[in-house]
Amino acid sequence: MEKCPACGSGNIFKIIDQDRYAINRCKRCGLTFASPLPDDVVLAEFYQGFLFNLPEKREIEAQIKKRKRELIRLFNIKPGDKGRNFLDFGGGTGSAYKAARELNLNVYYHDLDEKAKAFVKREYGLTDEFIVDAIDETGQRFDYVFSDNVIEHLKNPVAYVKAMRDILNKDGEIIIKTPHGGNTEIFFYPMVSIKEYFLRALKYNPPAVAVKAYFRRFWHCDPPRHLFSFSAPNLKIIATLAGFDESEINISYYRLPLWKYSISEIFVNFRKYHSLRSMLLRVIVLPVLPFEILSKILQLVLSKVNIISPAGIILHLKKTS
Ligand SMILES: [Zn+2]
Repeated sequence: MEKCPACGSGNIFKIIDQDRYAINRCKRCGLTFASPLPDDVVLAEFYQGFLFNLPEKREIEAQIKKRKRELIRLFNIKPGDKGRNFLDFGGGTGSAYKAARELNLNVYYHDLDEKAKAFVKREYGLTDEFIVDAIDETGQRFDYVFSDNVIEHLKNPVAYVKAMRDILNKDGEIIIKTPHGGNTEIFFYPMVSIKEYFLRALKYNPPAVAVKAYFRRFWHCDPPRHLFSFSAPNLKIIATLAGFDESEINISYYRLPLWKYSISEIFVNFRKYHSLRSMLLRVIVLPVLPFEILSKILQLVLSKVNIISPAGIILHLKKTS
């Protein structure tokens, strides 16, 4: 019988099928997980050049500034922290790497994708001695570990958090950002919830099952990409299994930018989308815009009064002993 990989409960139900995988949810701790887990050959093939999206030049500056503010806030970094060791795990296009460098930290970078690595080397001067390939072979200890949308891709989240704990200095901190399983905010992003999830659910399930899944709280699990989605109860269990004491675990949330993945954003972004095809598309989607703007106003109001739950969750861990 299927067991929850976090709490061990056998009280599991299947949300949907997706290709050769079942997407399950634990009734006790709310963990969403794929079964079986894809084998390593499938994953290696899937991630070939997948993670790397070349950022637009003009977006880079803004991205880095935003990252800097984010890191200062999340880790409470002060000028006196200069020279402390920072690891950006799954660093992708390097915005956190560059931001942490600008905060005068001693920054290490990890990513599986060779293209991403090459980009960060070329653009931001990353050198080989600051590249971490295997966590357990670094020989380094860190004061800050940043992991942004990585854990949901991995087959063993407990082992991952434990490996991170092992490379932390005393009083070192880990920030793990990941999609929030079961959130309701994503309903206001139909380009994600319908286009990415619902249509795929329809492909592999009877329509009634797909519709029912859509109106459940969101699953955010699409193997071989996301193998899990998490919420506060199961993240706490995972952190505890990885060796953290309850007093060292803190959970918070983040919301998606209001206009991200919106039709309006594409509509106004002439610099990015200026082909003939996107011009024609603009004419076609024009009537949708007033509805989208209304839905965004509704989203803003409901977010302010906390009626819709945020699409992202942050696990903040501090190793105090
Ligand atoms: Zn569970």
